[in-house]
Amino acid sequence: MKPTLPGIHHVTAITADAQQNIDFYTGVLGLRMVKVTVNFDDPTTYHLYYGDESGRPGSAMTFFAWQGARRGRIGPPQVTVTGFAVPAAGLEYWRERLNEHGVRGITEEQRFDDRVLTFRDPDDMRLELVATREPGGDAPARGPVPPEYAIRGFHGVTMAELGPEPTAALLTDVMGFSEEATDNGRTRYRAGGGNPYASAVDVVEADAASRGFNGAGTVHHVAFRAPDDAQQIAWQSAIAKRGLGVSPVMDRCYFHSIYFREPGGVLFEIATDGPGFAVDESSEALGQALQLPAWMEPDRAKLEKALPPLRLPEWLQD
Ligand code: ZN
Repeated sequence: MKPTLPGIHHVTAITADAQQNIDFYTGVLGLRMVKVTVNFDDPTTYHLYYGDESGRPGSAMTFFAWQGARRGRIGPPQVTVTGFAVPAAGLEYWRERLNEHGVRGITEEQRFDDRVLTFRDPDDMRLELVATREPGGDAPARGPVPPEYAIRGFHGVTMAELGPEPTAALLTDVMGFSEEATDNGRTRYRAGGGNPYASAVDVVEADAASRGFNGAGTVHHVAFRAPDDAQQIAWQSAIAKRGLGVSPVMDRCYFHSIYFREPGGVLFEIATDGPGFAVDESSEALGQALQLPAWMEPDRAKLEKALPPLRLPEWLQD
């Protein structure tokens, strides 16, 4: 079986302040909070999920909230920038909005055929809004950003590598990406036979002096989509055949995951499209209450006591 990989599933990063993170991603960027749960490997810390209206694969920006975690450093080998797609007519709106909210590091550039607005989140993580002619996706139905300007999921990610060739070879020879264009030291790879949504992976070469390390304000890993469990198993064996160490399938409740390091050192995950975020609460109520996997429910009282209290977005409380 030749499995498919339609694009990015989610991006997971680290924040040192859960509340500040919620206020920024829902209150400024206008993403929908689609899940409040705990890190399954460290259940006294939150795992926060944001997305479009349904939290579909390709829209899920997630954070490990490690209160007071030391700041990391953005640099190779890492996903150094996460890019969101916004309707092309919305870039002026966004520039004003980000300025009004005192967002740092706002710059604009032309890249390939797109206008790109770059800025920093409160942990100083690098983000981009990419003006996209037909961004697809479902704008959040409620929230502070008018639907015609709303973020519609990911455009893609940028990875910095010390030597990009082995990474490029993995993307094209094994993972089904095609090389699309090169501009100014940046090579764009496109997943999924040209799927235009959440499918761009840009690789740039960076020198060893700029080497990064994980901590608050950095991306922990990027996950790519497997349409179903059978295709995930096929990916697992394809990755192993390539000689890379790959994890067993893990039950992440909202999807099933395998993990491996690409040859340059960036942590990759392949996650199934299903079962999705509506598996433990209704689509209307996504992200409004702490959800725990069944195996942690017996510890709910203890965990709730250990977790810092959160103010969830006001516009979800009506
Ligand atoms: Zn993940």
